[in-house]
Amino acid sequence: MTVLDDNIAKLNGYLQRFRDTGILNRIAGADVPGAAGVFENITPVDRSVICEVAHGDATDIDAAARAAHAAFTDWRDMPALERKKILIRVAEGIEARAEEIALCECWDTGQTLKFMSKAALRGAENFRYFADQVVRARDGQHLKSPTLMNVTTRVPIGPVGVITPWNTPFMLSTWKIAPALAAGCTVVHKPAEASPLTARLLVEIAEEAGLPPGVLNTVNGFGEGAGKALCEHPLIKAIAFVGESRTGSLIVKQGADTLKRNHLELGGKNPVIVFEDADLDRALDAVIFMIYSINGERCTSSSRLLVQDSIREEFEDKLIARVNSIKVGHPLDPSTEIGPLVTEEHFKKVTSYFDIATEDGATVAAGGKTVGDEGYFVRPTLFTNASNQMRIAQEEIFGPVLTSIPFKTEEEALQIANDIPYGLTGYLWTNDLTRALRFTDRLEAGMIWVNSENVRHLPTPFGGVKASGIGRDGGDWSFEFYMEQKHVGFATGQHKITRLGAG
Ligand code: NAD
Repeated sequence: MTVLDDNIAKLNGYLQRFRDTGILNRIAGADVPGAAGVFENITPVDRSVICEVAHGDATDIDAAARAAHAAFTDWRDMPALERKKILIRVAEGIEARAEEIALCECWDTGQTLKFMSKAALRGAENFRYFADQVVRARDGQHLKSPTLMNVTTRVPIGPVGVITPWNTPFMLSTWKIAPALAAGCTVVHKPAEASPLTARLLVEIAEEAGLPPGVLNTVNGFGEGAGKALCEHPLIKAIAFVGESRTGSLIVKQGADTLKRNHLELGGKNPVIVFEDADLDRALDAVIFMIYSINGERCTSSSRLLVQDSIREEFEDKLIARVNSIKVGHPLDPSTEIGPLVTEEHFKKVTSYFDIATEDGATVAAGGKTVGDEGYFVRPTLFTNASNQMRIAQEEIFGPVLTSIPFKTEEEALQIANDIPYGLTGYLWTNDLTRALRFTDRLEAGMIWVNSENVRHLPTPFGGVKASGIGRDGGDWSFEFYMEQKHVGFATGQHKITRLGAG
């Protein structure tokens, strides 16, 4: 038996109960069928049906929002250390079921085990990190003025909605839900319709860890139904959203009548800029990793390579050789580097750019082909001879597709890097320190790495500028979103109060 056979056998064991009963919504600690019936969950590996999923709509969202509302006061008032203990038990529960989470995630999304084997552990890390912050989450400042002792405190905003996408869904869900729970908020989670499996595992693990019923509720369904209803619900005080930029705009509109607070983590078309003075071997490794790992379905991927003219030919030659050697295959084979794209719709979108590239006059230097006809597999693709005005340079393709654009000078590189609606991340490769300082100062992005691929550190702020989002996660920034600042002034003496109507 190969490792792949073994993984498939284990996966089938884990999936059996979903095949038997489908995935139900979880509201107030109980399994609830979807008010709109069911929809089918398909694997991108061979297009077979994984299971049926509860199709939730406004009715289910209303029930979940009421459950989150009812559970809020007790959860908010639970002593911080008790809440911390529960969140740590959630982290332990995730670790205990890491294999199940990883295998289900791969089958559901097409992500490879090579990258998803760590997804559960990163999810657990999110819970551990924010569990450690629980005790100080409510702390504020004491600011003395001449007549008052001014105290600020923070209180959880209330029940919140979390809407997540299908790329690395488990990690992203924990990234939102862990700080919300740590802050003392209750949650209604609407996972992406294309990847419901691990959201179900998360709510089960959380409840087994002692999370009271109603503190985390999961409603499956589609954006225009359940998602929209969540944004519009008056009992939901804020929406933490991760997804496409145009959906982010809808989230804001839908929440306008109820004055929702929104946190938006949106799309990207991120530049990696390679100067001739860089460590080119390390730059090459990082360029490849940041677009071809996680199937290129990664908001922070460096999908635009800006490479200096003087080294372009040599750099691209090496790039082509490496891209052509990337292994596409079954996501549960541990040696596979790229698995299938998540859905038929997404597969069609990504492959449509193969023609768009040639129509626009770029060269398909590697890939540009689909693989087999069982699932949604594509060869990792590199476009060269591109200009920044082409669609392949301006639009988020969200697949293993890199567009290489040459530049001559630092000024030109900066102009190209910033000439884009997005501003999530940027990656700079140079050994000139003053250039790095200058460039990072003027590069329009929420997160920039110099001589490094994206290395996430939980206490640092995560988020984008321009069409890539509004707001920041990470460290205390997460609590800024899930909590309200409250000011209380205590008089320290008999200061003069202006008397009206006293003659
Ligand atoms: P999407 O916007 O299509 O869907 C995301 C979620 O929003 C899904 O759960 C969907 O059902 C829901 N949704 C859709 N329409 C809605 C509506 N009108 N109201 C409420 N909810 C609605 O995104 P996707 O295709 O699932 O994910 C890929 C996108 O996510 C990419 O653009 C990627 O860059 C982005 N992303 C961003 C980050 C980040 O941190 N900036 C991280 C991961 C993914």
